[in-house]
Amino acid sequence: MDMIPLSIPNLTGNEARYLQECIESGFVSTTGPYVGRLEEMVAAASGAAHAVSTSSGTAALHTALICADVGRDELVIAPSLTFIATANAISHCGASPWILDVEQQNWTLDPALLEQVLREDCLQDKTGLIHCATGRRVAAIMPVYLMGLSADIDRICVIAKEFNLPVIVDAAAALGLNYKDRKVAESEAFATCFSFNGNKTITAGGGGMVVFQDADIAAHAMKLTTTARKGLAYEHEFVAYNYRMTNVEAAIACAQMERLDTFVKIKRETHAFYRDALADLQDLQSFPESAWGESACWFTGLVSQVEPANRYIEGLREAGIMTGPFWMPLHLQPPYKDCPATPQPVADDLWTRIITLPCSTNITGEERLRVVGQVRALHG
Ligand SMILES: *Cc1c(COP(=O)(O)O)cnc(C)c1O
Repeated sequence: MDMIPLSIPNLTGNEARYLQECIESGFVSTTGPYVGRLEEMVAAASGAAHAVSTSSGTAALHTALICADVGRDELVIAPSLTFIATANAISHCGASPWILDVEQQNWTLDPALLEQVLREDCLQDKTGLIHCATGRRVAAIMPVYLMGLSADIDRICVIAKEFNLPVIVDAAAALGLNYKDRKVAESEAFATCFSFNGNKTITAGGGGMVVFQDADIAAHAMKLTTTARKGLAYEHEFVAYNYRMTNVEAAIACAQMERLDTFVKIKRETHAFYRDALADLQDLQSFPESAWGESACWFTGLVSQVEPANRYIEGLREAGIMTGPFWMPLHLQPPYKDCPATPQPVADDLWTRIITLPCSTNITGEERLRVVGQVRALHG
């Protein structure tokens, strides 16, 4: 029987044609028309005024953190349930994550817990907000739109404003989500970051994007990602990075962006199909949907209440259906286990019970049925 992949790229649009154009024009590197075109497309699709391309999602996060003045030995608040890149970008600034547990309902940064720790565990002094237990300055808040699920960003931004903290959103795989009928970056956040890694809904092979509402900050981000070169001469204003996306990557991503709405629609349909087809199995819950909008459903799957998730993961894999475990939360990861963290009742309980299910945008109806059939067979 054929293998059903977990999440693979769908490259059947204009990808080959645009790539051919890159080869024929010779523009394969960071100059070339597709990079600027992609920036315009992502700004429009995310509801931001300005977009700056990067070589990865991690580089987009790193660039945003530098723009927000996050520096050595400072703390950035981040949720435990995320891919390790969220924390790595913070570390690349010499800072550390302050790891908060997530909301039970929607698996993202918990605004009530955020407010509580800012009020109870910090003190304001003349340099800013200080985390009492470590004496380190709290420099930013980084909510994660986990698998396309938005956090309650309006509430988070109100709290952030009170404490004068910039909000940088890790929306790596959340292009196309809807929050209170607004687009993913239509918020008070300082910056919103995306990834175009190979298994994201929209891929460029690899790459990322950081979007801003403020023109001056976006201009600074552009310098940071392009070695801060001044004019045509090889004079560079400050120590910066070689983070710009290439025209080849942007060509693929432009073709992908033309089908963003279609891709997100299919992702959401796959999520709804599994949810409805397995609704009678009380001990298997589907992935959550946020109360304030529609997830971009980058990934979908199940949460096992009784049986260990591994029994399903191994059983599905034996039947040629690719599934996987979920990311180990940040507070358990070797490089981050000693970082400041709240108690983690939600993340600790949740992460080992999650089962991801096949959700490529080129999945067929027959394949979805096979997945459901196999889950039922294993459930018994
Ligand atoms: C994919 C992802 C990233 C990292 O993006 P890269 O392009 O692989 O650097 C960061 N955060 C989250 C939540 C992601 O899903």
